[in-house]
Amino acid sequence: LMAVGCSKQPIPEETHKQTPEQDEENSGEPVKIGFSMDTLKEERWLKDRNLFRQAVESLGAEIEIQAANGDDSLQIAQAEEMINKGIDVLVIVPHNAEAAAAIVAKAHRAGIKVLSYDRLVKNADIDLYVSFDNERVGELQAMEMLKQAPKGKYVYIGGAVTDNNAHLLKKGAFNVLQPYIDKGDITITYDQWTEDWTPANAYINMGQALQSNNNRVDAVIAANDATAGGAIQALSDQGLKGVVPVAGQDAELAGVQRVAVGTQTMTVYKPIDILTERAAELAIKLAKGERIDVNRTVNNGKIEVPSILLNPIAVVESNISKTIIEDGFHSREDIYQIE
Ligand code: BGC
Repeated sequence: LMAVGCSKQPIPEETHKQTPEQDEENSGEPVKIGFSMDTLKEERWLKDRNLFRQAVESLGAEIEIQAANGDDSLQIAQAEEMINKGIDVLVIVPHNAEAAAAIVAKAHRAGIKVLSYDRLVKNADIDLYVSFDNERVGELQAMEMLKQAPKGKYVYIGGAVTDNNAHLLKKGAFNVLQPYIDKGDITITYDQWTEDWTPANAYINMGQALQSNNNRVDAVIAANDATAGGAIQALSDQGLKGVVPVAGQDAELAGVQRVAVGTQTMTVYKPIDILTERAAELAIKLAKGERIDVNRTVNNGKIEVPSILLNPIAVVESNISKTIIEDGFHSREDIYQIE
């Protein structure tokens, strides 16, 4: 077990006396959290935004939220502004894993700790990383595809190369696929990143994959449901929708609807409420300089970042009910489009 932020040991409330040297975090003022988001484009980020706000406020803290619409310099400017306004802790979803290191340096110069949310900031002294186990997501995708297509030609439609999660997902998928590749059962016939995770770019990539293989592909692993949607559109153009198995992740409503009707084989459900609750609680602890115990680290190129990685869940048609619906992530009516 490691402790984060233990330079300042928590002081029991009863014995705690205010002194002028003590930071404002002990002044009884609510903790102010700055939440710097990359984008609100994919459906999940709206959930992240709303649930994180709720979680923070229910713990008596305050939050300011900015979204940068995929623009690195805007994200830096927005974070800088929040730092200047005097937030107590910064929670960041970086658009670009490397570019965001500048934000971390600025926050630290102002004495503000930084929590990397869902996506890791690379090459920076990040204080804490809270996410899902993205390598595991990739493994779940590949395991399901192997059930559908134990042999044949695989297409890998990656995420954005600028997002560390895209690399973790790919690593996880290939952890599982490699023995089959080595045996010669599987060949990777196409493998490309998708700029900014857009369905439009995934559509173009999948079109190329089909063309260069005369439409003979046996499985598609797409890094998320947005890219899966683009890939399925390209399959549909060739009359292959519902014929070639496709994996995605996020359990976006459109993705789960496709799983329900069989045009997408699986998605990966990541309970965003758990992520937001954990992140809210831990961000407040960071702001207060309280000790946080974690049991794993992730290397970000500079340090071993203390990390909390939550469990992702594979969803296929048969367990939609007892995962997505039971948790209230989407309603049965919405998934099956019941009037
Ligand atoms: C997230 C995915 C998301 C993707 C695109 C990744 O970092 O983990 O859930 O679909 O970004 O926004």
